Amino acid sequence: MVRGIGKLRKQILSNRGVVVAKPPGKHTVLATIPTTNKDHLKTPHMRYLEVVHGKPIEKLLLSGSEAKVGELLDIDKSTVSRWIKRLKLRYTRDNLPDCTICTRAVPACLIGICVILVDLEQWDLVSLKEKEIMNDREVSNTRAE
Ligand SMILES: [Zn+2]
Repeated sequence: MVRGIGKLRKQILSNRGVVVAKPPGKHTVLATIPTTNKDHLKTPHMRYLEVVHGKPIEKLLLSGSEAKVGELLDIDKSTVSRWIKRLKLRYTRDNLPDCTICTRAVPACLIGICVILVDLEQWDLVSLKEKEIMNDREVSNTRAE
């Protein structure tokens, strides 16, 4: 983690009156701002919310309905929807999650029940993803023979 960001985080937190408690034998709880491959798309406001909540903004934005997330993050629900678009967090039939590089992939993803789509309750996309994975598997089985 960049040292400058740690300093900035401390400064932001102390400005906001947040005291970071150190549990015995452990390092500081919010040791770093969470980093993901979407960091270059994030605004300072998003990064601030990541520090406050200790989670990547992607996770926060997808943690419930837009209204619920807006309430949690104290932002308008139209902002929630704008940010979801900006970070390309919505999946469509042309933009399905890639479980082979996904950090949240679980064994169910391997048989086509992608946990990300299930969490989003995108049932038609779940079945599309399932078809995609089954087709890939058939192709690689044919190759192996
Ligand atoms: Zn998946």
